[in-house]
Amino acid sequence: MLFKKFFSVCLFILQCSTPVYAKSVIFMIGDGMGYNHIDCVNEEVPLFMSSLEPGYVKTKSADNNVTDSAASATAYACGIKTNNEYLGVDPDGKVCETIAEKAAANDIKVYIITTDDEYGATPSAFYVHTDSRYNKEKIDLYRKQAAKTMKLTFNVPSTFDALQYILKKMDKDPYTEYFVMVEGAKIDKASHYNDYDWMVKELVDFDKAVQSAWKYADTHDVAVIVTADHETGAFREDNCDFGSRGHSGVDVPIYTKGLYRTINGVIDNTKVYELIKDTLY
Ligand SMILES: [Zn+2]
Repeated sequence: MLFKKFFSVCLFILQCSTPVYAKSVIFMIGDGMGYNHIDCVNEEVPLFMSSLEPGYVKTKSADNNVTDSAASATAYACGIKTNNEYLGVDPDGKVCETIAEKAAANDIKVYIITTDDEYGATPSAFYVHTDSRYNKEKIDLYRKQAAKTMKLTFNVPSTFDALQYILKKMDKDPYTEYFVMVEGAKIDKASHYNDYDWMVKELVDFDKAVQSAWKYADTHDVAVIVTADHETGAFREDNCDFGSRGHSGVDVPIYTKGLYRTINGVIDNTKVYELIKDTLY
């Protein structure tokens, strides 16, 4: 794969004096992170993400205008719409090969990192195949299988700290391709509780992680994609307060760097899968 990229770039520029580095992807999901979360928090704590121009992602699932994390993460992992609560399968229960599984099978190093535990729907969608996100037995089974080819890390206290560890590894091994998924899961959890201070703490940590990925991509051949799986708490911009304790169906922001194409306006969540796939392959 690396050879293929090297060769095609050589053909393009008709000289091969400098080596072409691997093109890795850092995919960052702020679970429950709506645009209003970012915009309101930015008024009291300046956020890096506020300095970026967002595109937007439509998040509806196959069976609901308001997705859950399972269906949304499956859209990102497999590029398909599925039902809420389904992980790594289509609405008929047919297994889809996830971007993480495909990457691992192609000798791309895969890291899945989350502040959530091992039963979190978002990380699970990248390697679990079941029609119920609450089926712990199946999640255990698939997780143990996935751990043979991917590095899975749960319950990290900070997305920023966890990502620094990965960036150091990547820096030491620049010819290897990486697919890194980083999830800030507790933006969602804090928003379900309408706990503003907790949400700010989680969002600020995630934002720091995003900024570090951006900086890393300045000097490395890495693409960064930052988005959310859905919005949580119907956060309002007029009074900077929660409007509900559940998910909402609003489009979520997406920020990208280093992609082969730019995002204009609003895209469907299944297209995010293609952005990752087209960058890795
Ligand atoms: Zn949620």
